[in-house]
Amino acid sequence: MQAESKLEACSTGYNAAMHRTFVFSRIAAPALCVGTAAFAQSPLPTASAADRAEAREIFKQLIEINTTDSPQGSVTAATEAMQKRFLDAGFPAEDVHLLGPDARKENLVVRLRAAGPVTKKPVLFLCHMDVVQALRSDWSTDPFEFVEKDGYYYGRGTQDMKNSDAAMVSTFLRLHRAGYKPRRDLILALTADEEGGKFNGASWLVREHRELVDAAYVINPDSGGVELDHGRAVVADVEATEKVYSDFRVTATNRGGHSSLPRPDNAIYELTTALEKLAAFTFPFELNEVTRTYFTNLAGRESGQTAADIRAILATPPDLAAAARLSAEPSFNSNFRTTCVATRLTAGHANNALPQTAQANVNCRIFPGHSPEEIRRQLVALFADTGLTVKYLADTGELAETAPERKAMTPPPPIAEVFEPLTRLTQAIWPGTPVTAEMENGASDSIYFAQAGIPSYGYSAIALERDDERAHGRDERLPVDSYWKSLDFFYAFTRALGGE
Ligand SMILES: [Zn+2]
Repeated sequence: MQAESKLEACSTGYNAAMHRTFVFSRIAAPALCVGTAAFAQSPLPTASAADRAEAREIFKQLIEINTTDSPQGSVTAATEAMQKRFLDAGFPAEDVHLLGPDARKENLVVRLRAAGPVTKKPVLFLCHMDVVQALRSDWSTDPFEFVEKDGYYYGRGTQDMKNSDAAMVSTFLRLHRAGYKPRRDLILALTADEEGGKFNGASWLVREHRELVDAAYVINPDSGGVELDHGRAVVADVEATEKVYSDFRVTATNRGGHSSLPRPDNAIYELTTALEKLAAFTFPFELNEVTRTYFTNLAGRESGQTAADIRAILATPPDLAAAARLSAEPSFNSNFRTTCVATRLTAGHANNALPQTAQANVNCRIFPGHSPEEIRRQLVALFADTGLTVKYLADTGELAETAPERKAMTPPPPIAEVFEPLTRLTQAIWPGTPVTAEMENGASDSIYFAQAGIPSYGYSAIALERDDERAHGRDERLPVDSYWKSLDFFYAFTRALGGE
């Protein structure tokens, strides 16, 4: 996909198309693209042998507690184990909250309290504790056994994301032990059901216990990270915003009848007429702070018609003919607007009967600033057929007449308070690696905070070979060295955000 390499903002000789085929966009704020020479610093201080041993032990403990959404799994078993570690370490009980809407899906919220007068809102580190199911028969090792082999840690969750859970637990314990007093509260939330299940902890906490998780911004290590090419770091991605995922079920119903007596009214035809309208429809062109920064940057590196078109869309008002030309490239198109596309169809019940129902799933990726309900109403208006229903299909599988009204916030520009230390520390570990902010098409728990008006930055500080992404897959593994580096990064980063 050539366009993806065009989307790579910092010139590194690295081909983004090889990096991740589902990349939605990569957006580099120019100030974040710094050369190799600028950051020839000494590496960060590394964790002591004792601290590493503890961090490894926590990682092992978490991997060996099954937190899948299944009869064998329990997130609570893992959050309780971490609660015990914090209490044993001397965290006050009132700063360690274990809570949730289901006995097996309890979340842990830990607060490292500021000393002295506090002028800034807290920083929240958001980490999901659940993992995707893994079967022993599919794996070379037991997925719920922590195995160190050939320089890797193996086990379900070694990449997604018990590595970061363990690194953050270890970081909070070490900071507490060191007597570190931040200038603002630092909060760690270990949550349930990010991967699936009915009790999403991030959503529940922000809705039911905002006082525990309210923050200036969220750091979510569930996305972003350092891409390696044969051991060489080529780019560090930070997720700065994401689109909202929504499914809608479009249904046509009919009294049916014998297929030897067809009539003009027909559920399949009604549905396909609506879908043809959808196929011909394009949501309006939009830019936000993250995508505007990216395109401004890109215009300077492109040439010819593409450069002219990019400049034209950045003008006020934007040139919509130019936007239409650029939209021929799907990754640009996704950057520009909400998209909705039919992804599944079912209809009829017999070869010789008129269909009584016809249904389609329409999958939408909603541009930040719009609510799922707003998009649902636009679909209803587009179809303009009162015989059709357009219902919201929640993650839980439940159908609802209307969709959530909550909008994901329009992203602010990448804030220096986060990006300055993030870039500095990343480059202390991986010298010269460009840091790029991106708008992600996938979904993470960050969206619940974005909908509550709290910006979120996704960064794991985990370095992985680009062809070794095994999250959700078999034989998930993490280079041992990547774990130690993320540990050093987060210890320094957490201190930097908390105020040295
Ligand atoms: Zn994850």
